[in-house]
Amino acid sequence: AAVIVAIDGPSGTGKSSTSKAVAAQLGLNYLDTGAQYRAITWWMVNNGIDIADAAAIAAVAEKPEIISGTDPSGPTITVDGTDVAGPIRTQEVTSKVSAVSAVPEVRTRITELQRSIARGAAGGIVVEGRDIGTTVLPDADLKIFLTASPEARAARRSGELKGTDVNATREALIKRDAADSGRKTSPLAKAGDAVEVDTTELTLQQVIECVVTLVEE
Ligand code: C5P
Repeated sequence: AAVIVAIDGPSGTGKSSTSKAVAAQLGLNYLDTGAQYRAITWWMVNNGIDIADAAAIAAVAEKPEIISGTDPSGPTITVDGTDVAGPIRTQEVTSKVSAVSAVPEVRTRITELQRSIARGAAGGIVVEGRDIGTTVLPDADLKIFLTASPEARAARRSGELKGTDVNATREALIKRDAADSGRKTSPLAKAGDAVEVDTTELTLQQVIECVVTLVEE
């Protein structure tokens, strides 16, 4: 049977690296749901939609066509046929994504997309995000919730974004997690039946091994 693994947690916990590696090792598909929220945010910015206007965002939430490729060795994302893998990682999109993804119409739309991808994934899938275990795929076979200290998370993010200031990264990260945890519709949260893994003192390889072992149990 197709195995569905949900991996949730705040940013900088190693979610993407872990999810991709686990999917590759186990021959599963991989879906980065944050990339989908970033993609719709990129489209809103590109089309001049006022990010502070939730009604304006809701009115066009169905418009962009978002397609995610689920090969863990080379995940892809396009919006209306344009490859946006690079543009969705800019600081502008990162600073606006929490506001866009808090709009209920956006969540409904993206959640449906995620469910249809997960249902159609031959052999199974690892899905990473913020509300996968609680809302998107509450029937997942295994739910993992990754955590790490704010210091560890900021250090990892600064390492990825070379040349950025750790303190500024830490502030931005804390702000985004607070917004994601505080929104009314499916906030960042640990499912009651999720296994929590604190990655603060673990190497990426150790986290991957831990999750692979949990899937195989
Ligand atoms: O994982 P990543 O940092 O790329 O996610 C970007 C943003 O997308 C998050 O800060 C959050 O606002 C939103 N998101 C979400 N629900 C998910 C995944 C991401 O709201 N399942």
